[in-house]
Amino acid sequence: MATERTFSIIKPDATRRNLTGAVTKMLEEAGLRVVASKRIHMSREQAEGFYGVHRERPFFSDLVQFMTSGPVVVQVLEGENAVARNREVMGATNPAQADEGTIRKSFAESIEANSVHGSDSADNAKIEIDFFFKPEEIVG
Ligand code: UDP
Repeated sequence: MATERTFSIIKPDATRRNLTGAVTKMLEEAGLRVVASKRIHMSREQAEGFYGVHRERPFFSDLVQFMTSGPVVVQVLEGENAVARNREVMGATNPAQADEGTIRKSFAESIEANSVHGSDSADNAKIEIDFFFKPEEIVG
């Protein structure tokens, strides 16, 4: 498997509790390298666009509200099998179902405020990276 990139967000529940470093440490320890990172406060338009695939889901408006409730840290992660590796270290969407040692098991507050986002495929990783980063902001 060649080196791959994925997209990550440290969500507002984690930045609020000053867990940016702790989350990033777990990503790095999982073999992922942070090749781009910035702290932003997402606009409503950005959050709605980013989560567009969930527009029809019952949790959509609460999710947009949550993702715009405070700063987030958007990151590009690079490594062997980065998409799958990141999903593994993140843990299940619902922290009650997440394995021990995962980010969500360690830090998530709820199924919504679950501390991190990670792309679910290489194709989506590319779309999500392009949504937040210019090529020159990524330094591999
Ligand atoms: N989410 C939620 N309620 C749900 C399912 C998901 O609030 O019942 C939120 C949660 O923050 C999750 C995000 O919507 O991370 C995107 O959902 P998805 O099913 O894509 O989960 P993920 O890929 O983040 O594990």
